[in-house]
Amino acid sequence: MDKQQEFVLRTLEERDIRFVRLWFTDVLGFLKSVAVAPAELEQAFDEGIGFDGSAIEGFARVYESDMIAKPDPGTFQILPWRAEAPGTARMFCDILMPDLSPSYADPRYVLKRTLARTSDLGFTFYTHPEIEFFLLKDKPVDGTRPTPADSSGYFDHTPQHVGQDFRRQAITMLESMGISVEFSHHEGAPGQQEIDLRYADALSTADNIMTFRLVMKQVALEQGVQATFMPKPFSEYPGSGMHTHLSLFEGDRNAFYESGSEYQLSKVGRSFIAGLLRHAGEISAVTNQWVNSYKRIWGGSQRTAGEGGESPSYICWGHNNRSALIRVPMYKPGKTGSARIEVRSLDSGTNPYLAYAVLLAAGLKGIEAGYELPPGADDDVWALSDSERRAMGIEPLPQNLGEAITLMERSELVAETLGEHVFDFFLRNKKQEWEEYRSEVTAFELRKNLPVL
Ligand code: GLU
Ligand code: MG
Ligand code: MG
Repeated sequence: MDKQQEFVLRTLEERDIRFVRLWFTDVLGFLKSVAVAPAELEQAFDEGIGFDGSAIEGFARVYESDMIAKPDPGTFQILPWRAEAPGTARMFCDILMPDLSPSYADPRYVLKRTLARTSDLGFTFYTHPEIEFFLLKDKPVDGTRPTPADSSGYFDHTPQHVGQDFRRQAITMLESMGISVEFSHHEGAPGQQEIDLRYADALSTADNIMTFRLVMKQVALEQGVQATFMPKPFSEYPGSGMHTHLSLFEGDRNAFYESGSEYQLSKVGRSFIAGLLRHAGEISAVTNQWVNSYKRIWGGSQRTAGEGGESPSYICWGHNNRSALIRVPMYKPGKTGSARIEVRSLDSGTNPYLAYAVLLAAGLKGIEAGYELPPGADDDVWALSDSERRAMGIEPLPQNLGEAITLMERSELVAETLGEHVFDFFLRNKKQEWEEYRSEVTAFELRKNLPVL
């Protein structure tokens, strides 16, 4: 038994932990959990725990349903809302096949595989997400409009709004689980919050995002409200993005940084951005996986720049340009040696393991193939006309999930990164969502057509 495993077993005894939840994530990004008694753990570390994978979205075909969950002791944490003895703890798991090879269906493995390729190239991948979400008074399931939990706006600090207490409690809980928070504030829309996590390696970040979503929902319930990561719950307000800052390191050195070059961006950094841009369309179904994701990208309120509704619709990059898909944040003179880029397409409803895997694969492709970075867009790309944008070579992101699926289907990069099983399952699942949506007569049509036709 290794030191981490020993630490887990010792802590279980010392803290009187009676339940250990083994966590993993399905292909669509939903957290799954199986609880084991502490007495089972020693064996779980050795051999894993068997479960029926056919019941999990995207995991197995029925005829090969036996799967094994093997806990990663490095991710052991006590759940703060179940900390009093007898307490509950959790660990993330790797999913294995009966022959103990990694499961091709495990999103965590998809990311690990891409990270292994990254380290073969000599790089480590760091990410830092800015997670936006809404606090609502209710979550109606009949398709009616929810009510935001407060009426504040961007950076508002008003007495007695639910967000403030919420953020304090939520951040305390995250920190007690080893997740550092850098920044938090009220976002542009009523009820909308943003919490930014400190940068970490991409696998830890993806694990942290899964924990984050659960913690936010838990704290919201304790305060009598509901948290949602739906990309765009309101037509008239901005949606919830999950902008993520990315950087590659070579040892201790930031590989995106080069002193004296334009925006202090190295050739590696420039090619990485070029890769993200060239493959932005085909990875969109993964980074923005829901019908609703495209309402955030194309829905009206992002045009009111300066009001916090700035989600990107066009494939371009810019220096401090908040309408661009990729932003190279302002260089801070005191911070020599550091450079990062912000990808703004991701929304809060994405599967973070798969999303970080395809972003990384697109960036690495740019480096390996030596893509040239096209000129940046300094203007507000929303303010340009279609023909001006075309003249600058700026293409739109997919208009809807249907278009995104078509682009993904033709993508070698996404097929290779996700692996055949996840690629096929994902496309099948998303086509079904698109078909269902396409065949539904919506409130919009009834409102527009019925009175006049
Ligand atoms: N809510 C915006 C989005 O959907 C982002 C606002 C911001 O710049 O933080 O991406
Ligand atoms: Mg924000
Ligand atoms: Mg941002």
